[in-house]
Amino acid sequence: MNFIKKNLRAVLTVNFIFLTLSIFGQTAEIDRPHLKIQERTNQIFDSLVNLRRDLHMYPEVSGDERRTSNKIIEYLTALGLEVKTNIGGYGVVGILKGAKPGKKIAWRADMDAMPNKAPDVVDFKSRNEGVRHICGHDVHTTVALGIANVLTHQKEDLEGTVYFVFQPSEENIKGALAMIDDGLFDIIDPEEMYAMHVTPFPTGTIAVKAEEMFSDYKRMNLTLQKTLDNEALIAFAKNQIMALENVASESKFWNMQNMGDPEVGIASPKSIYNNFTMIEKNNYSITETEYEVKISAFLSFSDKKQRNSAIPKLNSRIKESKYADKFIDAELVNVFPTLDNNTELVDASLELLSGIYGKDRVLRMYGVVADGRSDDFAFFQPIVPSVYFFMGGSNYEKGIIAQTHSPNFAVDESCIKTGVNLFSSLIVERLK
Ligand SMILES: [Zn+2]
Ligand SMILES: [Zn+2]
Repeated sequence: MNFIKKNLRAVLTVNFIFLTLSIFGQTAEIDRPHLKIQERTNQIFDSLVNLRRDLHMYPEVSGDERRTSNKIIEYLTALGLEVKTNIGGYGVVGILKGAKPGKKIAWRADMDAMPNKAPDVVDFKSRNEGVRHICGHDVHTTVALGIANVLTHQKEDLEGTVYFVFQPSEENIKGALAMIDDGLFDIIDPEEMYAMHVTPFPTGTIAVKAEEMFSDYKRMNLTLQKTLDNEALIAFAKNQIMALENVASESKFWNMQNMGDPEVGIASPKSIYNNFTMIEKNNYSITETEYEVKISAFLSFSDKKQRNSAIPKLNSRIKESKYADKFIDAELVNVFPTLDNNTELVDASLELLSGIYGKDRVLRMYGVVADGRSDDFAFFQPIVPSVYFFMGGSNYEKGIIAQTHSPNFAVDESCIKTGVNLFSSLIVERLK
């Protein structure tokens, strides 16, 4: 997960608290394959925790995931999976063929850690100086290996093929493209693809939303013809861009801690984190040539409708002004790929997982994470119908807050069990 707006990072500290969420809701009657999944997960849970701690102690930055990759290869090979290595760097693919015919589904986990000098808050501290798993990719790798273990255990009943994609270099948004360019989809041909990321939601839960999960962050370039009074022109242009913002200045929206609020946060049907266009304050750049001036600004959109209306709105405002004849061009440029979950698969996943594990553990999100993050899983999404989930990693009573990229990032390791259980069940059901 990438943070892209440094100025908002400061306010997004810890209190991502979901007060009214209970993870102890009624669990629906569980089918036999799902009981087997849970039994097996319980059996291997301690070993998965050990594995996660080992990965945590030897974190490797993007492009340098050699040891992590070797651990993955070792684990998948021991399970008897077909293993492909060195795809787009240290990328690994494990192929699990079920005994029965069925669909082909891919599960993706990222592997890399980050440069970070803040002291580790856990006992199993990083042994690699200046490098830490503060985005939870050690947990992602572990959950994916856990799913591989659990599904291999019931291979005789498994319908179809599961591809486990271990992706390097997520933090520098190079790994997904590198794997694709290195022929990932010549090796595998999944009909659906899934991934998850730990978030500050409570452990025991997962959360998902159709289409965008993060606000869509774009650079806007507005080019105008120079005038005698360029200062006035630039001030005008900035004002027109600022006027696209539609969040009231006194809104609760601006306190990013409210993203976790049960009333107005991203998991509430009354979420205020939707239908917005937001402008990054004071982050403009001006480029001047002999005849033109280009104003660049950074904007975040909650969804496609907001994004697609920005340029037409700007155009019409300029046309109505005294600078109408000065307009040359306006464009939106990608900064990061836009995460865009397949609506049909989101609905299907929510229905089947809440049916098995209870509605309280499987949350539908109504708003997007507004502080400008993304994940390069987005690069797989135009190729394969896919869903990216959030998985809760916090335990507020224990003071564990899974706020990614924050110096005190930690996870309640019970979330590993949640991930292996729920996502194994998802894959088993979706293969049918
Ligand atoms: Zn990250
Ligand atoms: Zn991440």
